[in-house]
Amino acid sequence: MGFKCGIIGLPNVGKSTIFSALSTADAETANYPFCTIDPNIGVIAVPDERLEHIASIINPPKFTYTTIEFVDIAGLVKGASKGEGLGNKFLGHIRNCDAVVHIVRCFDDPNVAHVHGAIDPVSDIEVVNTELVLADLETVDKRIEKIERLSKKGDKTHRKELDLCLTIQSFLGRGIAARNTTLADTGEILRELGLITTREMLYVANVSEAVLKGEGDYLTKIQSAADKEGAKVITICGDMEAEIAMLPEDERKDFLDDLGLRESGFQKLIRTGYDLLGLITFYTTAGKELRAWTVEKGTKASKAAG
Ligand code: GDP
Repeated sequence: MGFKCGIIGLPNVGKSTIFSALSTADAETANYPFCTIDPNIGVIAVPDERLEHIASIINPPKFTYTTIEFVDIAGLVKGASKGEGLGNKFLGHIRNCDAVVHIVRCFDDPNVAHVHGAIDPVSDIEVVNTELVLADLETVDKRIEKIERLSKKGDKTHRKELDLCLTIQSFLGRGIAARNTTLADTGEILRELGLITTREMLYVANVSEAVLKGEGDYLTKIQSAADKEGAKVITICGDMEAEIAMLPEDERKDFLDDLGLRESGFQKLIRTGYDLLGLITFYTTAGKELRAWTVEKGTKASKAAG
């Protein structure tokens, strides 16, 4: 199992730039070719030095990287949950994802218009998160109505679910995402509701190259907004990521070294994503193939191997 990650954010923040940089980089590096399922979905091999190291020791005829599926989810604008832009088409996409990468514009560029006229990462985050919360609120409201209808007809089997829905409703009503509540132990019922704000979210600040190594005003603001909800922020420079992706693989490390960077944005994204979701890589050799798999931390070796 690999994991599926949705890329969201307002228009013009760099979603497509980062998505295509990811796909191009992989096309050249991995023997698990990047494949485009549709123009907005890509399966990307996870760069893995340990797999390569094991391969160099046991020399298998074939070795295979584990993969991540990325989905470039367009159409999230103010009012999307009520039908603005592409409407709530984004809901289905996010529901199918394990985690959400929320790209936030933190670069100045007079040639790239900002959808609300000025660059304000904190306000951008709020606009997007509000749409997600409103979409969930609508789901929960509908569910409550349905349970109440059933209850009037004498069906009392949904009492526990109703209590949970009312609690979630009160959190969402205050703008709090379901993942930031204490509802995690209500797993099964919560899962069945299919809420999108239960998905883990990672903020990606799309910064200018100069900010990549240090701090910037936008970055400080987004960091403090993320801290309030205990979320992580990583920095990526979309433009630079696109440049790295075009380089032959053996030149990429030198390019990063010259800039004093330890890893590319792509590597950082994957490392942090694995951490966020509690995932690790597990290796098997069966027949002629050495293979890396993504499994949850703490999975028993026998289960992972199965
Ligand atoms: P999307 O609407 O979120 O998918 O945004 P795009 O990826 O299409 O990017 C919108 C514009 O911003 C394009 O012209 C990109 O070239 C530009 N862009 C993306 N990332 C960066 C960046 O890191 N720095 C600068 N200066 N421009 C960027």
